[in-house]
Amino acid sequence: MEERTEINDLGEFGLIDRLTSKFKIEQDSTITGIGDDCAVIDCGESYRLITTDMLVEGVHFNMMYAPLKHLGYKAAIVNFSDIYAMYGDVQQITVSIAVSSRFSVEALEEIYEGIRLACELYKVDLVGGDTTSSLSGLVISVTAIGEVQKNQIAHRHGASENELLVVTGNLGAAYMGLQVLEREKEVFKVNPNAQPEFTQVDYILERQLKPEARKDIVHYLKSLGVVPTSMIDVSDGLASELKHLSKANGLGLVIYDEKLPIDQETFSTARSFELDPTMCALNGGEDYELLFSIRQDDFDKIKDSEHLTVIGHFTEKNAECYLADRAGKLTPLQAQGWDHFTGEEG
Ligand code: ADP
Ligand code: MG
Repeated sequence: MEERTEINDLGEFGLIDRLTSKFKIEQDSTITGIGDDCAVIDCGESYRLITTDMLVEGVHFNMMYAPLKHLGYKAAIVNFSDIYAMYGDVQQITVSIAVSSRFSVEALEEIYEGIRLACELYKVDLVGGDTTSSLSGLVISVTAIGEVQKNQIAHRHGASENELLVVTGNLGAAYMGLQVLEREKEVFKVNPNAQPEFTQVDYILERQLKPEARKDIVHYLKSLGVVPTSMIDVSDGLASELKHLSKANGLGLVIYDEKLPIDQETFSTARSFELDPTMCALNGGEDYELLFSIRQDDFDKIKDSEHLTVIGHFTEKNAECYLADRAGKLTPLQAQGWDHFTGEEG
């Protein structure tokens, strides 16, 4: 009988590995293939960076509450984030869409208005794409192209023992924004005349609907003369990205519960949903912040920045990933894929 493996048995990364493991690198110019935030291609003077991400209706967004303009903006931003995660600059994008006749031309124009806004703000050119029909909802795929100086590239690997782990901005806000939107969707289903309850959640809604990529941080670190020794963007949740960094570097790490940067609005909304704010920060996802390591010597350069928080450090080779609580007790870090995430306090 023919073998049949369920996709769920492999998981996302297992599936990618299974599909791609037989491919060999044939070109000298391919510096980094699958497995980092971007592909890295040698083009003489500098490295070219390429990344692609797809947003699918019903999986990554919901037409009931995602304004189309914001959707276009977000589709571009999530790709920019992967270029910044290599310490690069974004230069061009291509955009491909699959649409059903359910969408009007005006609706598609809204999406493109969002993409245009992102391009304008981040100084990126739209240079191509593809348009096709779909029988089952909207799909947007964006490919971003960027560049980085050869001596400045930050891979997921490259860190050494005891280097500091730093995260930008704050965590868990986009996840809590999503919880608020989901709650209001349920209320609306029961009573379409009810007014949505959106008081004191402006910031977390914005983090969910209109995220930004940390171009500012890349410029800031460059101005300080700090090159991260390893870096990744926080798209799936901090815990999951920490595990990726740990694995890519072959190093253990420890992060401190009390150091996690959590915005006040995220904190109070999490509490009102009876969720643990720390769990939201660790596993929420869609933060599009940057997580990176620096040499201990560089600490003085970054220590006064309000945008950067040292949350822990790498430990020794082949060690585990731990979360330390206030009392110093270590628990193994769990990366709970964000859709399996429950509100149980850990
Ligand atoms: P990110 O979260 O940074 O966007 P992903 O987790 O989506 O990265 O992907 C991990 C790696 O696997 C990346 O290098 C990506 O280019 C590669 N990858 C993902 N899906 C495929 C695929 N279907 N075929 C080939 N490579 C893939
Ligand atoms: Mg990434």
